[in-house]
Amino acid sequence: MTREPPEPLRLDYLLKAGAIHSMTGETYRCVGLRGPEIVAVSAEPGGLDDLTGHDTVVADAGDLTVLPAFADSHEHLIEASRNTLLVPVDRARSVAEFTGMVAAAAQAAPPGEWIITSMGWHESNLAENRLPTLAELDAAAPGHPVFARRGGHLAVVNTLALKAAGVGPGTPDPPGGKFERAPDGTLNGVLESGAVWQVFAFAPAPAQAELAGALETGSAAYAALGVGTVREAMIDLDQLLAYQDAWQRELLKVRARPLIRIGNELTAEQAIALIDGLGVSSGFGDDWLRIWGLKFVMDGGVEGGALEQPYANDPADSGHLNWDPAVMTQVCSEAVRRGWRIGTHAAGDRAVRTVLDVYEGVVAQVGPLPRWTLVIEHALLSDPAQRDRAVRDGFGITVQHSLLWNMGSEMLVTWGPERTRQVNPLDEWLAIGADLAAGTDVARPFNPMTNVWGMVTRGTKSAGIQGPEHAIGVADALRLYTIGTAALLGEAAKLGSIIPGKLADLVAYPADPLTADPDDLAELTPAFTIVGGRPTYDPDKRLTP
Ligand SMILES: [Zn+2]
Repeated sequence: MTREPPEPLRLDYLLKAGAIHSMTGETYRCVGLRGPEIVAVSAEPGGLDDLTGHDTVVADAGDLTVLPAFADSHEHLIEASRNTLLVPVDRARSVAEFTGMVAAAAQAAPPGEWIITSMGWHESNLAENRLPTLAELDAAAPGHPVFARRGGHLAVVNTLALKAAGVGPGTPDPPGGKFERAPDGTLNGVLESGAVWQVFAFAPAPAQAELAGALETGSAAYAALGVGTVREAMIDLDQLLAYQDAWQRELLKVRARPLIRIGNELTAEQAIALIDGLGVSSGFGDDWLRIWGLKFVMDGGVEGGALEQPYANDPADSGHLNWDPAVMTQVCSEAVRRGWRIGTHAAGDRAVRTVLDVYEGVVAQVGPLPRWTLVIEHALLSDPAQRDRAVRDGFGITVQHSLLWNMGSEMLVTWGPERTRQVNPLDEWLAIGADLAAGTDVARPFNPMTNVWGMVTRGTKSAGIQGPEHAIGVADALRLYTIGTAALLGEAAKLGSIIPGKLADLVAYPADPLTADPDDLAELTPAFTIVGGRPTYDPDKRLTP
């Protein structure tokens, strides 16, 4: 009896590059991929030539530098995708352009249909630097409810939208939310936090198949910027079905790790019943779509963020907390007992302190937990005592320089210059050994390299340099955005660095970010992106045989 020699390893792809940074300290010259995985690396350009066969695609990219694809710790891919189906007011540069787009959409829509804008806009991109008004939206679409949602915590609506939601002058503010009013007491159409959800519940959701299709377009835009994984920071159960649909049809161009929203409008009993009804728990799924955990929201954004001290522009206001800490402690303890991880939005320092209280209460009830079980999302403002508590207790933090980049001017007005320059002091977090993972949270495709540039320079879009003393180095920024997020996901063995056995999630750049002038990073975009051994972005066909 003869025994066949074992089948030699044949690569699907052999990438040769000027430098391949593992992000664990090594630099290689070639990497071999087979199926969804990295199977070999070598410091010699010809070191893996023996592993090629006639089917192997050899990409000779001596002009490029390869890094692990970015893993975004907190972004709203579903919203960015849905935005592609909505009125694209994020492209407007003046209030007139904004309302003109709303008017055009209204004219094209059947009478009475809701007109919903993309949420990726911000008034700082409008020449007037203010929100459109209720009266302007009424004039643009007199026969349609209009819902102009801006980011996660604010929206402007028109009269018909308020009417459709049954909101009138006598409607009380929802818990943790506000219907803003003009000085004469009339509603001005601006909705904050809980009020956004109260009205949005009346707007029709897109059909599941349509949303799944939008996830393809949406995720492709992230892949084109070098992103391999998105931790999807908040979805409801209908959106989870859209994700499953997209996964089944293999439409996703990035891996997704969703968090399911547990709303503060629920009682403790209702929230626990919802969690029980989910059946599965954290970690359910596969390498493309896996549920990360549950999402709670403790306070607002820049407006509505719960601060220890009053706002700079309103001494009577210091933001709001959405959850009663005792109720949230009870719900989170039950969730953790059922195998769930939890991420809680906390923008202001009072919210951070309150979430620390809640999380410490959970640990007191259920005992010590693995790292990255309880996570604070953003922690834009924090004091040294809070940072020490988070590190001592093992609570992870997701950080997004892009929020300071995008909303720095708004922070300067609302929080004042002293607090704005203290936003996300990554150097101080790193100095005390915090678990950090970097991401974006802007609900539209955002170049990770612009974010890296921001972490390294503390530069912003329109508020100059804020707190340059809190800058960190390029290698640290890249690590937080790859290895850091992989740890947050509980997938450090599979994602985040270029090591044989890990998933083949790679991005190639025409410059080496580790040696380039940091100022050249802001505009740097990839040559190609690979996720799970498949090209997800390859405009110049460098990975085509
Ligand atoms: Zn978010």
